[in-house]
Amino acid sequence: MSRKSRRLARGRPRRTVTRTRRDEGQWAVGGQVPLNDAEQIKADDDGLNVRAQIEEIYSEQGWASIEKTDLRNRFRWWGLYTQRRPGIDGGKTATLDIADLEDEYFMLRVRVDGGRLSTEQLRTIADVSTEFARDTADISDRQNIQLHWIRVEDLPEIWRRLEGVGLTTGESAGDTPRVILGSPLAGIAADEVLDGTPASTALRDLLLANPEYSNLPRKFTTAVSGLHEVAHEIQDVAFIGVDHPEHGPGFDVWVGGGLSTNPMLAVRLGAWVPSEDVPEVWAGIVSVFRDHGYRRVRTRARLKFLVADWGAQRFRDVLETEYLGRTLADGPGPTRMARPRDHVGVQPQKNGLNAIGAAPTAGRSSGTQLRAVADAAEAAGSHRVRPTPMQKLVVLDVDDDHVAPLTGEFDRIGLAVEPSPWRRSTMACTGIEYCNYGLVETKHRAAQLITELEQSLAGIAGGLGTPISIHLNGCPNSCARIQVADIGLKGMRVAAPNGEIVDGFQAHLDGFQVHLGGSLGFDAGMGRKLRGHKVLSSDLHDYVTRVVTHYLRERLSDETFATWVGSADEQKLR
Ligand code: SF4
Repeated sequence: MSRKSRRLARGRPRRTVTRTRRDEGQWAVGGQVPLNDAEQIKADDDGLNVRAQIEEIYSEQGWASIEKTDLRNRFRWWGLYTQRRPGIDGGKTATLDIADLEDEYFMLRVRVDGGRLSTEQLRTIADVSTEFARDTADISDRQNIQLHWIRVEDLPEIWRRLEGVGLTTGESAGDTPRVILGSPLAGIAADEVLDGTPASTALRDLLLANPEYSNLPRKFTTAVSGLHEVAHEIQDVAFIGVDHPEHGPGFDVWVGGGLSTNPMLAVRLGAWVPSEDVPEVWAGIVSVFRDHGYRRVRTRARLKFLVADWGAQRFRDVLETEYLGRTLADGPGPTRMARPRDHVGVQPQKNGLNAIGAAPTAGRSSGTQLRAVADAAEAAGSHRVRPTPMQKLVVLDVDDDHVAPLTGEFDRIGLAVEPSPWRRSTMACTGIEYCNYGLVETKHRAAQLITELEQSLAGIAGGLGTPISIHLNGCPNSCARIQVADIGLKGMRVAAPNGEIVDGFQAHLDGFQVHLGGSLGFDAGMGRKLRGHKVLSSDLHDYVTRVVTHYLRERLSDETFATWVGSADEQKLR
């Protein structure tokens, strides 16, 4: 079938309607007439169909043959973003045409649902990285692994290898159901309410390559976990383990979380769902989003805006009456989790084995390092590795005799099982190095900051208590979750302090706007923004040292950084 006839065959039935001024482009209100370019491109052809174009035409004929609407839109349905051309400074991000900004290479995102990876799968990713991606491999805070420098010519072979071991890049980007977050310790944690793996696996089978869900208003993020450590508070939908007094273990349902430039925490629907019903309820919720989500303006097209306008009760009513045809059981909310959420260190499993969590530097890894992890895990008798939502790596199923050798091997390959608090709790997004939206450099700055803090604050590390999280973002999009970090750093261009003029204009340098005291967990909340406060990237170490020193001097006995920030004198935070 030709591409054109496929487009015609696949199109949903369209209704021509007169829209009211107040409608926001919801299909359920005004029909499916596309209201902007992004909606038109999706209506013209499902993003999933670009796979055939890539394999049959673009990989054969090369970069110049790629249709621009495919390149900058539908390619995302297969986890592909064009990568930023090296050497373009952040001041040009918003002014250059995308054609001048992007390079002829791609970032390719491998989705790892629930973080479930075998050592064979990890080694395959490592091989792809070293052969096709210049040895790049970043662990994202959504448990994905991101490769750079990918050429369109290599995609068929890359997909053949990844899919040969059960991996996919499908719907790891685009207006689709993205990777399902899950506990790295699912099924083995002594304190989990229930194992989220069966529900997560069934959900993955339901959503992948399903045209029912491949044209959503925007991306749709999901978490399923029997514990509370997968950032469920900022997902579009989350199923979180709770023990129901009558029905037993099941999931509490949350909707409408998300960060970016308009951050909102998810709300509970107050509904309890047994594990086997998760796919049905998820399908109902994503269908509410598909049909009622706002499509007129892209910046309002996330589920959080609909939930904020409707409220949890109306959302649940629509879900139950229009999509499920039944009422859900009421249920309790999660209880406070008693241990750190980052899975670093040696953690006993409930079957007598151990999970060993290690910290790459701000999520940066490499194919070489991932292959070494796979080898080390197998030498320790394990075949299971988990990337985490905190940009960490965990090897499962290690017996007591192999804990010390594996820890030593991790040290040798640059992964710390007992990291400093700064290495443990610093995350960074991709930033200007590869990202077309980036305004400032993040990964290298984060690595440098960690080293600086390890040296200058070595004396206080032991007295810190809970590590202070530092998250660096290259732009306001908040891929590294700045609003819910202790110290959240939003990349921006900052006027040079000495008034330097370049080409007749005030010079600008890399810098950050600061959010302080944000958190996830039982006391989740957005960080405090200080009006007009910006820090040059070059001053970051001095700034963090100053604020942390004030905290250590002034905190009450067991006061966390976030609590202290809430009541601290503003001068102590600048
Ligand atoms: Fe790119 Fe901005 Fe996301 Fe960082 S926060 S990865 S710079 S879009």
